[in-house]
Amino acid sequence: MKDCFAKIISAIQAHKGRTVAIAITAFVLVCAVVALSCLGAFVFNRFSEGYVPTDAELAAINSDPAKQYKRVLIIGVDGMGDYMKRMDDGATPNFDRLFGDGFTTANGTRINASVTHTGMAVYPTISAQNWTSMFHGVRPPYHGITGANSNTDLDAGKQANEKYPSFIKVFLDANPDAKVLSSCTWSAVNNGAIEDLPQVRKLNNNCNTLHEILNGELVLGDVDLVQYIAQQTKVEGFADETYSLTDAVTVQRVIDETETADYKIAYMHLNQVDSAGHSYGNNKHAYIRAVSHVDLLIGKLYDAYEARGWLDDTLFILCTDHGHRYLQDGPGHGGNSKVERTVTFAIAGKTVKQGTPGKYVNTDLAPIVTYALGLKAPETWQGRVPYGMFLGE
Ligand SMILES: [Zn+2]
Repeated sequence: MKDCFAKIISAIQAHKGRTVAIAITAFVLVCAVVALSCLGAFVFNRFSEGYVPTDAELAAINSDPAKQYKRVLIIGVDGMGDYMKRMDDGATPNFDRLFGDGFTTANGTRINASVTHTGMAVYPTISAQNWTSMFHGVRPPYHGITGANSNTDLDAGKQANEKYPSFIKVFLDANPDAKVLSSCTWSAVNNGAIEDLPQVRKLNNNCNTLHEILNGELVLGDVDLVQYIAQQTKVEGFADETYSLTDAVTVQRVIDETETADYKIAYMHLNQVDSAGHSYGNNKHAYIRAVSHVDLLIGKLYDAYEARGWLDDTLFILCTDHGHRYLQDGPGHGGNSKVERTVTFAIAGKTVKQGTPGKYVNTDLAPIVTYALGLKAPETWQGRVPYGMFLGE
């Protein structure tokens, strides 16, 4: 053995220059492979892995009323990341009853839920980039809502590249007589992420809306802010700041509007979880409060839809654009850390398969909605329907 080493060392000494060159080349090659692997993992993580439904699959939906929905309700929670997963058992009873083990309605319809807490935001993990990708089915370089000022640009009305229509537009092109509702606490989704179409009723809710309600200038059918505050006080021992009231109004307007008009798709954007993340970072106490409030609002929606007998033929979706950094890393989002990029996606309905779907990326929201409604997705979309999300695969 000793002789063997001696032979190797003398061989290296005899060819010193060549050995050094080989070592450097090998080192450079290893570095290149590692760098390319990291880049590949970073880039390809954003690629959808699901499928494009065939014409036969769409025809099967369109020919069978048992597979059709009368309405879609989308609960958009800004900045929630995967925090729903980290809530204590029993802390989100309303999320659990809608997106838990599934349930049977009073009419005997089985409603299943498909939930993932390992979904992927698009990069960068900024609200404008992600909500636009969710509505338009493509990654940011394609829809064009990019750059450091993307949130301001979107709020100012900058629209996605029209080669990539939103699922709202795809739906309305196929159903021009239908109506869509979008009630937002963060107006940028209404102003930029959804096209201006006559069939879309856009409601932006902010501090002015609260003043209008408190002054009696805006009367909502059933909004009772005092009761809402009392409900929170009961849960936590104290009432929350204004943002929660705005989210409560955003939800109440969905409840009121859908009662009096037939909206096939109703979307809402809730902001208080994102506010908590910006103020306190990805901190359990901040998130527990904010996510609990959203859970109360989910409960109000569930109760309203149940009272109307709508649970049987509604498709429920809960989605979020991104998560938040820990306080010690500087609160906020936009980067590629695990807590910023990992998102929850939950869907419940009679055609949903109970369990956990395959890989979900935020670009998949658009094709998921169009597939559930039996519509063909534009070929330009990059999002796919995650495997295992719907029955009959
Ligand atoms: Zn956001």
